[in-house]
Amino acid sequence: MSNVLVSIALSPEGEISPSSRELIAAASRVGTPVAVLVTSRPLRGDVVAELGLLGAEYILAAHCDDAETLLLTPQVEALCSAVQQFQASAVILACSADGREVAARLAVRTRGGLIADAVDLRLSDGRILATHSVFGGSYLAESTVEDGLPVITIRQGSIEDSAGPVTPEMSVAEVCFGRSTSAVVESSRAMSASPRPELRTAERVVSGGRGLGSKENFALVEQLADALGAAVGASRAAVDAGFVTRGAQVGQTGVSVAPNLYVALGISGAIQHRAGMQTAKTIVAINSDPNAPIFDVADFGVVGDVFTVVPELIEAIRSR
Ligand code: FAD
Repeated sequence: MSNVLVSIALSPEGEISPSSRELIAAASRVGTPVAVLVTSRPLRGDVVAELGLLGAEYILAAHCDDAETLLLTPQVEALCSAVQQFQASAVILACSADGREVAARLAVRTRGGLIADAVDLRLSDGRILATHSVFGGSYLAESTVEDGLPVITIRQGSIEDSAGPVTPEMSVAEVCFGRSTSAVVESSRAMSASPRPELRTAERVVSGGRGLGSKENFALVEQLADALGAAVGASRAAVDAGFVTRGAQVGQTGVSVAPNLYVALGISGAIQHRAGMQTAKTIVAINSDPNAPIFDVADFGVVGDVFTVVPELIEAIRSR
């Protein structure tokens, strides 16, 4: 099978991100997964072992002293070099803000074709077909790159990771790439850092809608999110009303999420909102209207006033 490069992200603690695990599973459906990492530190033995367990056949480690502080150029450089050195048939990245930017730059640099936001991959007559969930998840569509290297971003949470047996001859090779000239962004990244999980990749998301009524009341959404260790999301109506910043918008024109738990507070469940959250594994909705469409996709529903139910819920969670 041909080599499929997988761009692996490590957390500040050096752990493999959950989305990277899914990427390896996606790559193994269409070829031989080759993990590519850019890191300023020596690769830990347990990380190498876990990558093997997940199905990576090779690991390419690109060392960059400033990997954590530079813009995304080192990833692009490393992947470009790895494409040549490993004669890759495709490159797979997470559909995160960083992943999308790296993918676009890489597609231009390699004169390849970009496929964005795939939810599955398969091989057909030797060609990689990417599946997309479109029109609010009502239809599945497939796309392919007919000429050049496919560079594919995968929607987070759409593919189960698959831990298999450890690859017996796992080895770590160095990728050589030119010195980066991108700017240091340490200060601006530090300023925007939030203690909450990142919305796209969070395992739990608590979202609030117009039913919260005001920016002050939206604090209730944040309190429940903090009690659950969740990211904060919102409907477009809540964003448009100024309750929360646009980056929190979940849905067709916002962020797509697929967490294990999605809690919708005072959100009616319009098709455009559902398009961004209905693949969550468990959906909990709290809404005063028993006929709200959100209950059609909810696994657990509470018909009630968020200002009564949510404080009691927070107290119950905190007292556990
Ligand atoms: P509403 O529909 O007004 O619902 C508020 C809900 O709160 C109601 O169900 C009500 O019963 C409940 N409620 C009120 N008070 C309480 C209370 N005290 N306790 C409990 N429940 C209460 N929307 C998105 O979310 N994301 C998108 O990406 C998006 N993209 C769009 C793109 C296009 C092209 C268009 C046309 C629309 C888009 N929308 C999007 C807007 C979408 O159609 C809805 O208008 C929006 O999702 C409604 O937000 P909401 O559920 O918060 O508000």
